[in-house]
Amino acid sequence: MLPIPVTVLTGYLGAGKTTLLNRILTENHGKRYAVIVNEFGEVGIDNELVAHSDEEIFEMNNGCICCTVRGDLIRMVGGLIRRKGSLDGVLIETTGLADPAPVIQTFFLDQETKERTALDAVVTLVDARHFEGQLGRSQEAREQVVFADAVIINKTDLVDEAGLARALEAVKSLNPRAEVMTSSRCDVPLDKVLARRSFDLMKLLDIEPDFLDEGAHEHSHDTVQSVSMTSDKPVDFEKFKTWIGEYLNDHGQHVYRCKGILSIPDERQRLVFQGVHMLVEMGFGQPWKEDESRVSKVVFIGRNLDRLALQIAFRDCLVK
Ligand SMILES: [Zn+2]
Ligand SMILES: [Zn+2]
Repeated sequence: MLPIPVTVLTGYLGAGKTTLLNRILTENHGKRYAVIVNEFGEVGIDNELVAHSDEEIFEMNNGCICCTVRGDLIRMVGGLIRRKGSLDGVLIETTGLADPAPVIQTFFLDQETKERTALDAVVTLVDARHFEGQLGRSQEAREQVVFADAVIINKTDLVDEAGLARALEAVKSLNPRAEVMTSSRCDVPLDKVLARRSFDLMKLLDIEPDFLDEGAHEHSHDTVQSVSMTSDKPVDFEKFKTWIGEYLNDHGQHVYRCKGILSIPDERQRLVFQGVHMLVEMGFGQPWKEDESRVSKVVFIGRNLDRLALQIAFRDCLVK
């Protein structure tokens, strides 16, 4: 049996991974993919943000893929391999905080995984506007680019020419061997992402001779925290909009990512919001199903988050 190609999709918080995943899940490419999504934060939101389709989505919420849930990853991939029916590939979306090295190692260190899968490529999304700042504080943002076979500098509509040139320069100096593309809203051809056949372990070992040493990439994410809140009460959208705007204005520097799904009174669809630092986007998402309980969920990921203050502010936005 031919080994199943595996694509690892990484990128720091807010780079646009869910947008790209949505394109892969909805565009007509005639292929069947299984998708494994790993989220940071106790409440899973991404599964409600990604489009429904024939592809199968498996969630791993109970930890970070690069530290604590490698065993789960091996088991999940193992389950996919043993299933009947052909699969054109497996796509693994890591959390924005994951170091890709241990994820890549998994495909070489575990015997069964190694025999039955072929790592196709590590594709890394970069937020054109925030990449420089992320590099300054995050080892993972750097490693995601260092280990990439392809880098997509996304959200180019948010920077001017000079800003884009700086992001390109930063990416190329970290990783001269990767193919670098630019996009806004992840509008790259999907054959640049899937079935690239560009992963090369030998090249990686040239750069990092101890790459396959387990433990060489130990790290902790303890300086980054997440605060999640849920409620089955609907949200007063005007109040929420005012609050989130003011909150990000004052604290956005420390908020690497915020996102959520809101239940708005008398509204058929979910209200979805996504933010990176001071920038926030809102729009309608999937409709609620008839028999579904409408739960609002929000997650903040960042540094020095005041959990209690966030909880109180969120509660104040609920419809009384
Ligand atoms: Zn980790
Ligand atoms: Zn690490």
